[in-house]
Amino acid sequence: MSAHPLAEPLLAGSRRALARAITLSESTRADHEAQAQQLLSDVAPHAGKSIRVGLTGVPGVGKSTFIEALGLHLAEAGHRVAVLAVDPSSARTGGSIMGDKTRMPRLTVHPGAYIRPSPAGGNLGGVARRTREAITLCEAAGHDVVLVETVGVGQSETQVAAMTDLFVLLTLPNAGDELQGIKRGIMELADLCVVNKADSAPKAAVRAQTELRAALNLLTPHDAPWRPRALRASALTGEGVPEVWAAVLDYVQEVDVAGRRRAQTAQWFDELLREAAWRLFRAGLDRQQLQTLRAEVEAGQLTAIQGVAVLTTR
Ligand code: GDP
Repeated sequence: MSAHPLAEPLLAGSRRALARAITLSESTRADHEAQAQQLLSDVAPHAGKSIRVGLTGVPGVGKSTFIEALGLHLAEAGHRVAVLAVDPSSARTGGSIMGDKTRMPRLTVHPGAYIRPSPAGGNLGGVARRTREAITLCEAAGHDVVLVETVGVGQSETQVAAMTDLFVLLTLPNAGDELQGIKRGIMELADLCVVNKADSAPKAAVRAQTELRAALNLLTPHDAPWRPRALRASALTGEGVPEVWAAVLDYVQEVDVAGRRRAQTAQWFDELLREAAWRLFRAGLDRQQLQTLRAEVEAGQLTAIQGVAVLTTR
């Protein structure tokens, strides 16, 4: 089978080809899906050579400002940066927390950068799959840094942490209040915490950094391969942004990123397998029997476990 026609321009770094390839991978049409899978397998050998960074934080913490500052810092240094967004609210409602405002206007026009908003439509699992594919496509097109942004409301963070090399949590200088708002689960995912807007409240930012450091220490087992760090920055002035990148590079040096990726891939395979197994199983179910059983479980005539056993015991 010959390569998909988009493969060659994509590998040559064409932004247009990259945009079209991602659009193809987001399509739910069966023929597009088949084409997208062919394209992905054509280019996969050329992917995998980027640093993949997940970023999150509550709306208003300064994610787009920070990503633009970091992205410009990297692009100016010759990196090719891709920014992908994951916004499960766009999957559910068709609207989005990130909104339609033009985010990152300066990074958008930088020739070394590529920015892609969250795919609308589809369920959360679908969004995760498309984001993974978009990472592969960006890498194949020569992007050596992929930043994956999530909205920080606790739905997509685990999924994004499962497809990136490290995870960055942005917080605000009033960390006391802030820490209560941040779900403990998100703190546990963080390899770096950055107190943003340090310019607006320098003293509070130092306090917040200290508190975060203590919280991260408590959460991290002492034999962990990496001790999560707390840093301060201002996305607005750019202060502290190069230091965040330096910490990312330390992480990549110290942690077995290749091992983490292998584990992620295996996990992803298991997840897809579970989904496929469920689809197959459901296709073979007797709908009438299923409805009757569900009604019996609802009415308390059968326990849920007994109901499932009727369908799965041969
Ligand atoms: P997002 O919702 O997390 O993407 O947040 P935005 O990047 O849209 O930023 C929200 C607001 O905070 C905007 O008005 C930004 O200009 C402002 N902002 C972002 N970073 C900083 C910063 O480091 N210092 C100050 N003073 N304001 C900032």
